[in-house]
Amino acid sequence: MYRIRLHGRGGQGIKTASRILGTALFRAGFEVQDAPRYGAERRGAPIFAYVRADDKAICERGVIHRPDLVMVADDTLLDLTSANVLEGLSGSTALLINSNRSALHWCQRLQLPGPVTVLDGGAIGARAGRVPAGAVCVGAAARLLGVVSRQALLTAVAEELAGHGAAAVEASRQAVLQAYDQFSSEAGLVQRLQVAATPTAAAPPGWIELANEALPQAAATITAPATSRQVATGLWRTRRPQIDRQRCSRCGLCLNLCPEGCIDLDEDGFPVIDYRYCKGCLLCAAQCPRKAIRICEERAVQTEKPEGGES
Ligand code: SF4
Ligand code: SF4
Repeated sequence: MYRIRLHGRGGQGIKTASRILGTALFRAGFEVQDAPRYGAERRGAPIFAYVRADDKAICERGVIHRPDLVMVADDTLLDLTSANVLEGLSGSTALLINSNRSALHWCQRLQLPGPVTVLDGGAIGARAGRVPAGAVCVGAAARLLGVVSRQALLTAVAEELAGHGAAAVEASRQAVLQAYDQFSSEAGLVQRLQVAATPTAAAPPGWIELANEALPQAAATITAPATSRQVATGLWRTRRPQIDRQRCSRCGLCLNLCPEGCIDLDEDGFPVIDYRYCKGCLLCAAQCPRKAIRICEERAVQTEKPEGGES
């Protein structure tokens, strides 16, 4: 059986990527299972999906704890322990990272026993026409498996994106194919795991069993003040809003609409965004009556200003 886990952020098309990969594997003759997992948050929050593919009926269920291939559509997730991207990686697990840094950089930094491959999916997606990272990476993931043909992949893209219009399908097909071709020398890198993947008594699961409590006690309680400051939602951002002071009328609407409360006014009454907490939902840009909030790719801004930070 192939066990594949796909990680990314809300808005990067991870659910769609798992659907494309699942359909492509089905077209290649496999029995398939694919499912996404969301947390409570929305755009920008870490999410993952998983795909299983086998020659026979799949009876295994639940999250994949011991994957053969892990695809990471956003390399900032590797800095986020809670995203659990590296859970269960072994010497036989292939890791695919969407990054503009080299494979050598990630090998040295992560020190993993298995093979690490890198795709600069941001550049491919931008050239093809704003194709989400998840969809781009799935081309490389399919090639790493070595059992999905170009035709099966293209058919899967057309089927899964049919509702998004012909232009979106064409752009995604181009991006997916480019990633697929770029990984031709890595075809078949992924090995099928032969051992049982479900946790056993010898390999306990990574969670803690809690006894049931009475309902009034079971409700979450926050016992310390200002804990939300510790959640740096700015790490979730894939695109960032930027205020154009020439256009801004200082109406203050964005300030009131921001769900993170991370817009303040400076002494002249212009809005200032605290990028430590701006999660990139872009509600402010959508609602600004003067169209005074530009949308920039976070990766491009980080490249220009490697120090990142607030403004
Ligand atoms: S909503 Fe637009 S015009 Fe109003 S303060 Fe914000 S950026 Fe300026
Ligand atoms: S500043 Fe804009 S993009 Fe950032 S969290 Fe607030 S509304 Fe969303």
